[in-house]
Amino acid sequence: MMIQFLDLRAAYIELKSEIDEAVNRVLSSGWYILGEEVDAFEKEYASFCETDYAVGVGNGLDALHLALLAMGIGEGDEVIAPSNTYIATWLAISQCGAIPVPVEPLEPTYNIDPRRIEEAITKKTKAIIPVHLYGQPADIDPVLGIANKYGLKVLEDAAQAHGARYKGKRIGGHGDAVAWSFYPGKNLGAMGDAGAVTTNDPEIADRIRVLRNYGSRVKYINEIKGFNSRLDPVQSAVLRVKLRYLDEWNTRRKKIAEKYFAVLKDFDLVLPDVPEWADPVWHLYVVQSENRDAIQRILKESGVETMLHYPIPPHLQDAYADSGYKNGSCPIAEKISQHVFSLPIGPHLKDIEQDSVVTAISRYP
Ligand SMILES: *Cc1c(COP(=O)(O)O)cnc(C)c1O
Repeated sequence: MMIQFLDLRAAYIELKSEIDEAVNRVLSSGWYILGEEVDAFEKEYASFCETDYAVGVGNGLDALHLALLAMGIGEGDEVIAPSNTYIATWLAISQCGAIPVPVEPLEPTYNIDPRRIEEAITKKTKAIIPVHLYGQPADIDPVLGIANKYGLKVLEDAAQAHGARYKGKRIGGHGDAVAWSFYPGKNLGAMGDAGAVTTNDPEIADRIRVLRNYGSRVKYINEIKGFNSRLDPVQSAVLRVKLRYLDEWNTRRKKIAEKYFAVLKDFDLVLPDVPEWADPVWHLYVVQSENRDAIQRILKESGVETMLHYPIPPHLQDAYADSGYKNGSCPIAEKISQHVFSLPIGPHLKDIEQDSVVTAISRYP
């Protein structure tokens, strides 16, 4: 039996008739850029996130980048970002001409450690980007407290946390803005690239609307040097269908995570730590082992696909070679990158498949 890390085809098959109908509605409409379908998704997603505004953009990286620009981040500014994250968080900062300043995570929640943020703040610091990594909310209240004290903006990277809750409230509007990706493999995934920013700040929402559309509000009138990063109406139609199933699909992920916790607790693995205020959506189920490579090999031989999130932290990527980081600059993120691996999880993973994953792990001596 081959057990895929994530079965995207099964997600389409389950909703095929609704998705086909939604896509056909857009194809037949003759309207292919922004418009009603995008407006409708934005309203529905804002409401899902319990926020005032959602602005659809081309992808998650653009959501981060345009949100930073809308907050006034620019050349030479410093932005605090987790050392343990997907590189997009860092790239968005660099795209503004700003400098990512890494802060180490609280292990093993894997999210930014609020106690380490203040020591990273300088006169140049303008914003903090907590990332809700692997579907688990970061500890946002202390981050907001620090931001308030120093007059910093907070942009949340929620690309892996659609539907998650922090102290009972949906992720989507704790900080000044929240960036989302609807990359196909995310908990809410399109059938291509897509992204959005949610916020309760009407000015930030307005600026992103202008930035995503050539710096223009009225056709051929360009207020600023903008970008072309508009959410596609076909993707909006797909997302509107899938949004209606998001809570149910997250519940299925939660059941799988609970079973992993129950059966893996007796194994020599570091399991995720879930603080009592966190209601995670299990984008990934990430465990750690000193013998990661050997276990991963056994799983592969048993037909179980696992992945590494992530094998190289941003500060050690060639892309950031000019920043002067070296091995040892962010020891916690580096250790995590050497020990983590992600087990199959998703709304379409069958019980029997999950059982095979566990059986395969138990083959490791
Ligand atoms: C996926 C992801 C992004 C980027 O999203 P894209 O839509 O692929 O550009 C940003 N941050 C995190 C944490 C992600 O997982």
